Amino acid sequence: MISEKKGAILILSGPSGCGKSTLLKEVYKDIGDYYFSISTTTREPRVGEENGIDYFFVTKEEFEKDIEDNNFLEYALVHDNYYGTSLKPINKALEEKKLVIFDIDVQGHELVRNKLDSIVTSVFITTPSLKVLEDRLNSRNTDEKEVIENRVKNAKVEVEYFRDYDYLIINDTLEEASKQLVSIANITRIKTKLFDKDSIISSWL
Ligand code: ADP
Ligand code: 5GP
Repeated sequence: MISEKKGAILILSGPSGCGKSTLLKEVYKDIGDYYFSISTTTREPRVGEENGIDYFFVTKEEFEKDIEDNNFLEYALVHDNYYGTSLKPINKALEEKKLVIFDIDVQGHELVRNKLDSIVTSVFITTPSLKVLEDRLNSRNTDEKEVIENRVKNAKVEVEYFRDYDYLIINDTLEEASKQLVSIANITRIKTKLFDKDSIISSWL
């Protein structure tokens, strides 16, 4: 039986408010054996967010200690807060041959690409326009006015990076964008690079 497949990484990036979390919740039921990478952050939890589910919420000092101890695969300052991906759970999930899903910013994408290019697939998600992004951030109603303004300002810079990604999803209707994300997640799992070539041949012959 042909089964010698490696774990893979699927990176989702896109301006805050484009719909990454909403889309992921929508598609999990249609994606095989996956592990969502829970990031660590120094930002305050939003209403409804839970420690250990949405993020690991830590202090700046705790985060800096993790940096010193080399606990991160990557980390970055985003919108004035630290965000990082812890190495240990990622290695474990990859050893278990899972599809590891990251919701990280454009800096994180570049860092992970440089380290683990052969197993990375990436998708940039955006809204049809900046105006729609602003409307979504406002209607989400989770952030102060200044926080939203800062995120919109950053979005103008972030969107330029879409060209570095493998795929682009314009999240207009949730239905269409979800279908596209499911297709990408499934195709990510069957890249030839992920198979052990010798054992494929010897088990096939
Ligand atoms: P992100 O995780 O990228 O910051 P969210 O998933 O929190 O973004 O989405 C931001 C807001 O936009 C939420 O209120 C969400 O319900 C809404 N939203 C997401 N996708 C769509 C869509 N396709 N159409 C309309 N509203 C959407
Ligand atoms: P939010 O505060 O809206 O949850 O996330 C803000 C931004 O931080 C988003 O662009 C999100 O993708 C990014 N982000 C979340 N976790 C990580 C992480 O572990 N590393 C990096 N580099 N960015 C992250």
